[in-house]
Order: sequence, then C-alpha cells, then structure tokens
Amino acid sequence: MCVFCRIANGEIPAYKIYEDKDFIAFLDISQATIGHTLIVTKEHFDNIFTLNANLAEHMGKLIVQLANHLNSVLKTENINLVNNSGALAGQTINHFHLHLIPRYKNDGITIKFNKNKLSPADFKDLCTKLNLIE
Ligand code: 5GP
Ligand code: ZN
Repeated sequence: MCVFCRIANGEIPAYKIYEDKDFIAFLDISQATIGHTLIVTKEHFDNIFTLNANLAEHMGKLIVQLANHLNSVLKTENINLVNNSGALAGQTINHFHLHLIPRYKNDGITIKFNKNKLSPADFKDLCTKLNLIE
C-alpha cells in the first residue's frame, strides 16, 4: 500500500486540515512555502490519467474552498496549483494529489515555462490535431 493510502486510512499520521468522504488535505512534509498543502483522493488513483471524473468534479469545488481558506488565514493572495502526473512531470508519489502552494514575496520559488515559438502552420496543425470542438 502506498504512503498516501496509509495516510488516508490513518496508518501514518499527517497534519490534516480537511477531510470528507472522498478527500483529505494535509500539510506537505516539505513546506515549499508556509501552508503548502496536498489535496489527496482517499481512493488510490495513480495520477490524473486514471482519476475518476466524478471525483474530479467534486475536487473542483474543494480546490476553490481550500485556496480561499489558505488565503484568508495566511493572507498571501497568491497561490500555485500544481499536479505532477508521471515521472517526467516530476511525480514522486504515485497516488493522485494536487499541491496548493501559497506564494509570498521573495519566497525563492521560480516556475518558468519555455517560450518556444511555432510557425502559424505548425500552430494550425497542432490545433487541428488537438481540437475537441464539434
Ligand atoms: P510529487 O513530487 O509526487 O508531486 O509530490 C509528492 C509530495 O509528497 C512531495 O512534495 C513530498 O514532500 C510529499 N510527501 C512525501 N511523503 C510524505 C509524507 O509521508 N507525508 C507528507 N505530509 N508529505 C509527504
Ligand atoms: Zn495510494
């Protein structure tokens, strides 16, 4: 059984801040910033690709509630929501979880994306390939 399953069933302690029938939220053992929280499904799903869609819908509301709760207590008004799914994406615990990372001035974290350029033709091809609009 994985470490987050063990936390979810109470075998391993965690600094829990929220719990309902489907989710728990607890403080990450490594506080990227003060208040760094993980939202974790009680049921084991490896990552976003196998996450139950109904649970994801329920989680959407929870994300907003917890982000606002962290903000109202910690007064940061800045937050990153991060999910790492798959090893290349940096996932180290293979049980679905979402990081809520409150952000502070000069907190030392940099989240930077490459600024790759594509030609209009390549954008068009990619858009056609990915398009879900009927
Ligand atoms: P990932 O890299 O998979 O997105 O994130 C895993 C996170 O789980 C890391 O930020 C790590 O600090 C946290 N973590 C790993 N083991 C434990 C644990 O036993 N308890 C808590 N609270 N967090 C953990
Ligand atoms: Zn698990």
